[in-house]
Amino acid sequence: MENIDNKEIQLTEEALRIHRAAIVVDGHNDLPYKIRIKGPSALETLDLMKNQPEYQTDIPRLLKGGVGAQFWIAVGWMGKQGNGRSGSSYCIEEIELIHKMTEKYSSVLELAYSADDIIRIRRQGKIASLIGIEGGKAIENTLGVLDAYYRLGVRYMTLTLSDTIDWVDSATDIARHGGLTKFGEEVVLEMNRIGMLVDISHISAEAMRDVLRVSQSPIIASHSSAFALAASTRNVPDDILQSISKNGGIVMVNFFPGFLTQEGAEIFNHFWEYLHYLQSDRSLSDNEINKLEDKWVEEHPIPKCAIGDVVNHIEHIVKVAGIDHVGLGSDFDGIPSGPDHLEDVSCFPNITQVLLNRGYKEENINKILGGNFMRVFQSVEGKAKK
Ligand SMILES: [Zn+2]
Repeated sequence: MENIDNKEIQLTEEALRIHRAAIVVDGHNDLPYKIRIKGPSALETLDLMKNQPEYQTDIPRLLKGGVGAQFWIAVGWMGKQGNGRSGSSYCIEEIELIHKMTEKYSSVLELAYSADDIIRIRRQGKIASLIGIEGGKAIENTLGVLDAYYRLGVRYMTLTLSDTIDWVDSATDIARHGGLTKFGEEVVLEMNRIGMLVDISHISAEAMRDVLRVSQSPIIASHSSAFALAASTRNVPDDILQSISKNGGIVMVNFFPGFLTQEGAEIFNHFWEYLHYLQSDRSLSDNEINKLEDKWVEEHPIPKCAIGDVVNHIEHIVKVAGIDHVGLGSDFDGIPSGPDHLEDVSCFPNITQVLLNRGYKEENINKILGGNFMRVFQSVEGKAKK
């Protein structure tokens, strides 16, 4: 069936008005990692106030996209090699980079530590900047380190990345624990206690079920789509969507074509094996691995898809979990490319337009764009025991 949403997006006055009035929250942007791997002076020499075609993100495009709150990601650990360093050192370095980035562009960006901060910063016309950690390896099996990350401003942690770690199985690695270990359960409860959002993106379906069984607070999937539409283990199956609905949490839809269509998922499912193979080669540096990853992606093109596919995932989650349980988690600068009409951070208004074209009312569009995330964040804060 031809999808008219994929042809051309005409932004109407109404869509722009709704978009500008909403607090648009994006759950996942990997720009800090891209800057960090360029070396210690990369942030100084980069001018994010100008268009940066090399990236999917810069300040002019964030402003055009009407982004109200952006989670910037500090990667906890990139695979099995350490280059003589621990997982936490990479993560802390990227957290520091996010702090420096918001200081450097303080006329536009401001760090937010709470839902109230997001509302206040948005009122000032700035972009609320939040920190998420991707990869629980960064806590080095220590709850005290998790608490320290909270103090550094971290407000969510993705429990693992592409690897199974000591206490949780990854969706894209061999399962060693059948989900979460006892310590993994303690991590989730400690995150509940301090008010850090638990992110189930990247973990195995069994681990997702364990988290939903244990967590006392609503959870998020910061950048995952629906398994029923694209059978990637990175996506969320329907039974878990139903549990998330009961838990009060949200799934923030990922824009990567390899997670959006069945054909895309089938091709990209082979990527993880290759990635683990690269990561097991201790002679390769992060940069070399990145280059080889890019080469693989070039040699295994994923069929083109478009914004309508992203909205199909939103609609599926609405159908299975309900309108209160979906949001946006682009994964920009962590994905090789976005769908047509969602190529970079300037494109968020197109989502509002397609939702409007499909008959969604302003109240419900607001929920998808950011309202649902704000509710979850406030609930997690409210349940924290300070
Ligand atoms: Zn990710």
